[in-house]
Amino acid sequence: MPGRIKALDETVVNKIAAGEIIISPVNALKEMMENSIDANSTNIDVITKDGGIKLLQISDDGSGIDKEDLPILCQRFTTSKLNKFEDLQSINTYGFRGEALASISHIARVTVTTKTKSDNCAWKVSYAEGKMLGEPQPTAGRDGTVILVEDLFYNMPSRLRSLRSGNDEYSKIVDVMGRYAVHSENIGFSCKKLGDSNFTLAIRSHAKQQDRIRIVFGKNVSSNMTEIAMADDINLELKSVKGQVSDLNFVMKKSVTPTFFINNRLVSCDPLRRSIYQVYTNYLPKGSKPFVYLSLLINPKSVDVNVHPTKREVRFLNQDEIIEKITTYLNEELSKLNTSKTFKTGSLLSRQLTRSQPVKSLNSSTIAANNASNASSLNKKIYEHKLVRTDANQRSITTFLKPNVSSSYDNIVKTQVIPSKRKILEESFHDPTIDSNNSEQTNGDDTLTNKILKRSTRSVMEVNEATATDDGSVNISEQTINEVEIRNSVTDSNDKQFNPTVETSKTDVDYEEESITQVDESKPSEYTIIDKKRTDVNLSSIKTLKEMVDNASHMELTNIFANLTYVGLVDPRRRLASIQYDLKLFLVDYGAICYELFYQIGLTDFANFGQINLCTENEESLTIYNILKSFEVLKDNEISIKSIIEQFITMRDMLEEYFSIKIDFIDKDQKDYKTARLASLPLLLKRYTPSLSKLPFFLYRMGTKVNWKSEEECLEGILKQIALLYIPEIITEDVDNNDMQDSTMIDSVKMTAVAKKEKMADLLENVIFPCVKRRFLAPDTLLKDVAEIANLPGLYKVFERC
Ligand code: ADP
Ligand code: MG
Repeated sequence: MPGRIKALDETVVNKIAAGEIIISPVNALKEMMENSIDANSTNIDVITKDGGIKLLQISDDGSGIDKEDLPILCQRFTTSKLNKFEDLQSINTYGFRGEALASISHIARVTVTTKTKSDNCAWKVSYAEGKMLGEPQPTAGRDGTVILVEDLFYNMPSRLRSLRSGNDEYSKIVDVMGRYAVHSENIGFSCKKLGDSNFTLAIRSHAKQQDRIRIVFGKNVSSNMTEIAMADDINLELKSVKGQVSDLNFVMKKSVTPTFFINNRLVSCDPLRRSIYQVYTNYLPKGSKPFVYLSLLINPKSVDVNVHPTKREVRFLNQDEIIEKITTYLNEELSKLNTSKTFKTGSLLSRQLTRSQPVKSLNSSTIAANNASNASSLNKKIYEHKLVRTDANQRSITTFLKPNVSSSYDNIVKTQVIPSKRKILEESFHDPTIDSNNSEQTNGDDTLTNKILKRSTRSVMEVNEATATDDGSVNISEQTINEVEIRNSVTDSNDKQFNPTVETSKTDVDYEEESITQVDESKPSEYTIIDKKRTDVNLSSIKTLKEMVDNASHMELTNIFANLTYVGLVDPRRRLASIQYDLKLFLVDYGAICYELFYQIGLTDFANFGQINLCTENEESLTIYNILKSFEVLKDNEISIKSIIEQFITMRDMLEEYFSIKIDFIDKDQKDYKTARLASLPLLLKRYTPSLSKLPFFLYRMGTKVNWKSEEECLEGILKQIALLYIPEIITEDVDNNDMQDSTMIDSVKMTAVAKKEKMADLLENVIFPCVKRRFLAPDTLLKDVAEIANLPGLYKVFERC
């Protein structure tokens, strides 16, 4: 005879229901953590014992629970988040069925300590089987809630037996917390075992997502990621898809379960996981699984979270279409990475390189030797299967292509570079500042430099009284560089009226003769040798500035530049070039590099620059007043064009002695600000003439941004302006169109963007990067302008699959 049907005892029903929701400690943890997040906490701390089985405590600094609500807190279906049935469909918070705490209290001993802002003290009360054990007791406590869960499954021995070891349960807890930590920016998370002094997981509330991923999933994951940001699709009730997924450099045999958040809840969604993995099989080496973190916001009405008691597996409307949309998007993004059309802007290098001691020194003459020794000591052993052509001195294929870019540009900039005599070259190797001259000796010395020094200090002093309006800021940030660029392009046509011809003359003090031989051999050499002894510079301000450069240099980055192999010009509009070092391919911002490089050249060759003579048929066009005229309209500046030019005139001697910036007057009889003419610019690097379209900005900024009152700031300011002038111009496609409209222009200026680009590529390869290799000290700040885009073994893998 079958037994009669009996209604089950209520406590048994509750226990069974609870057991469905809480299968292991991690389920309890997740529910409680979601409550804490709902309560707007900014810090969530978890302590466990025996994987959360013996003890699981979660503390938050959220809203707290009203004392009046405590009696029903652990009853089933009590929730502050749901009033009507309809709410169930549009609820946006994490938990919402009022079941979690009730369930936990049926299978564990629960103690709640909570304090709202308006309470004077905290209240503490324990629960068993959904009911309060006695009245809440006042106690000391901070705003927020602490929920202590002890002896989980004490009344369900079979469930207890089926649990895995404490350590296994603990790692599940850490895993879920880590995923919430990645997702929940602005919330700090910590987790540790009771009695341990170290945290297993610790993330500060203000940590950025990238850092969160690094802390939780490791560097390998965080440094090989690409961002996902999909627009909404109203038809699919899809509000947004955001996240981070592996890029193509990512190699990891151990796969990490994808992290999917749907409406801010960690869920699993197998169809989505399978589709995404499928996309990656085309990109990653066989057997390697990507890391995936995606956060979907879907209209809550179309999400069904009740298909699974723990709310872990979800279903949503238009599921197939949404998944399809995500995979198509992902495929596009990854294929872009694959053909290197887009590049990450963030510096991946910074994660690998730490700040370190400078290797080269501007005050040192043995740069080359330094490089060599550093290269060998830094290079790790290279395994044979990783061998690739990385010898920077090997000829690259482009050296066999005859440069046909002498072109029109060379004609207007009629370069007459003067090769220095070997004697001068040798002297230029010898940097006097490394001599043990101290400042006392310097003062007593009546050398030429000291005379100049004295004169310049005097003129600086004079200026002190003359111009009290100067704001004195010489603060050059990257922004200001961009600013120059932007304004530059605006008035590009403006300056074309100068049509200056440029002659380089005077001593060229570049370090090596080598660059001379690179000058286009098809043309007869137009060098004139001028005997000029290198001027010794003992200015303490220059020494200080050099030291600052030395101290700011980054050893590993400098080493990369010293041993680079130039690969090519990538994007002249964004000034990106790529270089290879060791087995890695880097994308670098050559604008930023040039800025630093020319500043450094300015410091080392200070007072010894060659000279670029500016001359035009129409003398007047080069008067400083004409060049600066267009700025007169800028009403916001207090400094008038007149005072700027007068400032230059006062500093004429200094500008010429130190910077080869020569100012003369077109009218010998009338020497005033209207007749002052810019006659020459400093030549910093043979074969490279700065873009003269920047001239107005150069002069304007020199007049407004340089602090002429303090020697050090003044020299630094001018050197920085010269460096800005020397940054290669941005080449945009429509350059030639603009030019065409300018009828005053001579033909040779009408250079197409293509020709300009070729010229730039040639310059970078044969002039700028060789110089970077020779003498560049890369500062820490440059890390952001260098991004690793591929490593060669990784690329080979891609080819292997093809
Ligand atoms: P639900 O989250 O589905 O509403 P729970 O049983 O998880 O149900 O929680 C019941 C109620 O207890 C919540 O609605 C909330 O008002 C309150 N609560 C629980 N935990 C916290 C907490 N950490 N901070 C503030 N309030 C909480
Ligand atoms: Mg809840």
